[in-house]
Order: sequence, then C-alpha cells, then structure tokens
Amino acid sequence: MISYQIAEHGKPLQRVLNETPKPAGTEVLVRITRSGVCHSDLHIWDGYFDLGGGKRFYVKDRGCVPPFTMGHEPFGVVEAVGPKAKGVKVGQKRIVFPWIGCGKCAMCKAERDNYCTAMRTIGVVKPGAYSTHLVVPHPKYLVDASGIDESFAATLACSGVTAYSAASKLTDLVAQDSVAVIGCGGVGLAAIAVLRAIGVKSVIACDVDEGKLAAAREFGAKLTLDTRAPDAVAKLQGLAKGSLGGVIDLVGMPATTQLGLGALRKGGRYVLVGLFGGELQHPLPPFAFRAIGLVGSYVGNLQELRAVVALAKKKKLKKMPLATRPASEVNAILNDLKAARVLGRVVLDFESATT
Ligand SMILES: [Zn+2]
Ligand SMILES: [Zn+2]
Repeated sequence: MISYQIAEHGKPLQRVLNETPKPAGTEVLVRITRSGVCHSDLHIWDGYFDLGGGKRFYVKDRGCVPPFTMGHEPFGVVEAVGPKAKGVKVGQKRIVFPWIGCGKCAMCKAERDNYCTAMRTIGVVKPGAYSTHLVVPHPKYLVDASGIDESFAATLACSGVTAYSAASKLTDLVAQDSVAVIGCGGVGLAAIAVLRAIGVKSVIACDVDEGKLAAAREFGAKLTLDTRAPDAVAKLQGLAKGSLGGVIDLVGMPATTQLGLGALRKGGRYVLVGLFGGELQHPLPPFAFRAIGLVGSYVGNLQELRAVVALAKKKKLKKMPLATRPASEVNAILNDLKAARVLGRVVLDFESATT
C-alpha cells in the first residue's frame, strides 16, 4: 500500500510503500478511493494546537508520533474482511466513521465513541486515510452512502458529522427562531446546509470576510453579519428580531463567544465547536437568569453520521464546493489550505494514475 506520511512535523509528507495489511478478527480492509483534507490536518502536520496565551497542545502527547499517516475523511471499497467481521461484503462502497473509541466502555457500547476517553481516531491517533488502504477495527464503523458523490461522501465523515452534531444540540428551537453560524469556512457552510435541511428557516451567517459571507448567502443563509461591527451583539439581535434561539460557533475565540452568548434570546443555546483558542470571561448570573446554555460539541457519533448521510441521500443537504485532486498533490494541497487558497474542501483521489 502507498501512504503519504508525516516523517517530520511541518515538513513535506513522504510517499511510503508498505505491505498491505491483512484484516484479523472483526477488522475490515478498505481500499481508499477518496480522502478529504480537513483544516485540522494542518495542526496535526505542524505537530501542535495553539491553546492561546502561549500554551500549546502537542499531538505527540496523544499518540500521533511520526512516521504518521493523517486523513480522517475516508471513503472506499471493502477489499478484504477478517474472519469475525459480520454483515459486510467485499466490493461494498462505504464511508468510514473515523471517531472510533476503545470499543469496550459504556459510551462506545452506546455508539457514542466520541465521548470515549481512550479514542483510537483514524488519522489522528491511528493510521489514517492518506493511504491506498485502511484497516477498520469493526464493520459497524462503515456507513453505506449509495447514491452520494464519493468526494462529498468522504467529507461527511468529519465536516458533515461535526455540523450535524452541533446542530442537533439546539434542541429547543421555536418556529420564529433564527440561528447564527459564526465562522463560514468549510464546517460553517456544512452547518448552514444542515440547519436548512432540518428546517431552520432563518440562518444568520457571521464572519469577518466578505467573500465567505457571500458564499454563506449562496449556501442558504438568509442574513449575514460582519462581526467586526462595534455593536455586533445588538446587530445580531436585531437581525434575529430578538429571537436568536441558537448559535453554532466554528471559530471559538473570546470575541465570538461573547458575541454568541450576548445575542442569545432567553433560553437560547450556544454551541462551541471551533478550536481557535483563548479563555472565557463571562459573568455567571446571566447563565441562570437568562436560562442560556453553553455546550461544547466535538465531532459526532455513528448515529449522527448515519443521520447526516440520510439527509444527503434525500438530496436535502446542499453540497459544499469541492475540488477532487490526485493524491500525489497532497503537499501542494496542504500548502494551499495553509495559505487560505481553498474554498470549501479538497478531496484526495486515490484512483488516479498518479497515486
Ligand atoms: Zn476534520
Ligand atoms: Zn470507549
């Protein structure tokens, strides 16, 4: 099998040839055809996440030590199955759910692997999908995506399920509510698409970039707000006609948190997804007397991936702008992403001649 690996953090990925693994027990070997390139791969490539205030979280501390293969938006064809892998056949095309837990704890047994404390995430802790082949520990992590474009299907494994899980935490919306999406990059557009698909009529896109706001409008946002406005909280409340029932924050910095929490109606909920960083300073009593909620959302679970795939199958989910490029261009693609030259998502093609 051919993999594109981090040999040294921050340096170009190396094309490495290894023996193709054989699946044992309940394992399934998937031949990758498409592999999405996620913005968070840039942090794994660099070797750390910035926690603000000069603090860093190093990926080596959670097991990501070079040589390492990234890639957590896998799509492919089942090539071989272990002797104990049931309900799966060679030749089936599947999305691979990457947010895999230990498989033994109560959370994993309830298919809430993303709440497991010993995760084995594909492309983050375990070898990922920047590779022609991938070993998946159990067939339950394979999701049928028949009828969905393969590149789009790949992106549902991270950006799609992340957007869906965040939106599903807005449990108390009423008909006249608006929902704000802060940060209109790839996951932001996916969040707008999901909110529209589940019936939210008024989505307010918030960003500092006019181009991204224009993309958000095309994507189904009813209204937009340039969050650099000095009175952004009052403006957001005005756009929502005083009924901002929810906020999904894909940025996650002090300024966006203050905007989101400040603009919510009573009883509204702010969902924090973005990992930009920093610290929260907020008076405590308003959480109680405004009955507002703050909840974090980290990727999503298997049930949520199946649900977002079902929306895509019913053609309810608008497809984000996608470019499918040969896997051999992975280093150029990562540099394009770093330089913010990518709109939407780039997906690696492992079937092209130049893999
Ligand atoms: Zn991702
Ligand atoms: Zn577990």
